[in-house]
Amino acid sequence: MVCFIGRSNVGKSSLIKALFSLAPEVEVRVSKKPGHTKKMNFFKVGKHFTVVDMPGYGFRAPEDFVDMVETYLKERRNLKRTFLLVDSVVGIQKTDNTAIEMCEEFALPYVIVLTKIDKSSKGHLLKQVLQIQKFVNMKTQGCFPQLFPVSAVTFSGIHLLRCFIASVTGNLD
Ligand code: GDP
Repeated sequence: MVCFIGRSNVGKSSLIKALFSLAPEVEVRVSKKPGHTKKMNFFKVGKHFTVVDMPGYGFRAPEDFVDMVETYLKERRNLKRTFLLVDSVVGIQKTDNTAIEMCEEFALPYVIVLTKIDKSSKGHLLKQVLQIQKFVNMKTQGCFPQLFPVSAVTFSGIHLLRCFIASVTGNLD
């Protein structure tokens, strides 16, 4: 089981769709309105694993977000990795920090995925990546030391992330 968390509008449903579009049984609703995903959605990918789509936090987050997500993450069984999405255009925001602190507190193995990398110039993207990488190196314990920059529009980085997910879920044979 892997789960995806991130601020509303970070590009979570688009990423899940891009990652698992080859698996026909995965149907992802991509919302136009921020904060659309109010419940946790569970998707089964083949027989192999389950993807958990967490409600977006931050802007218009459901009030019971903290209760629901924290309870799930604390009690989680067979949760192999948590993918924490950060918008590469704006970098780590206050609510992202709260989520990072939560992952650290619960000692979850988590991975930071930088979304929407097609949106900024190479220079801006590089600056953000270096800054976030530095943050990961200096301030985190449980975070995977490698960032995954992706675009759900150009599919840049999608294949690598797919392979990584296959690997951590034991499906890379
Ligand atoms: P969610 O609220 O986190 O599920 O975010 P969505 O997947 O619904 O995406 C929010 C908005 O960002 C939508 O308008 C998407 O079309 C846009 N978006 C998502 N991923 C990308 C991306 O990789 N590149 C660009 N340019 N836009 C994206």
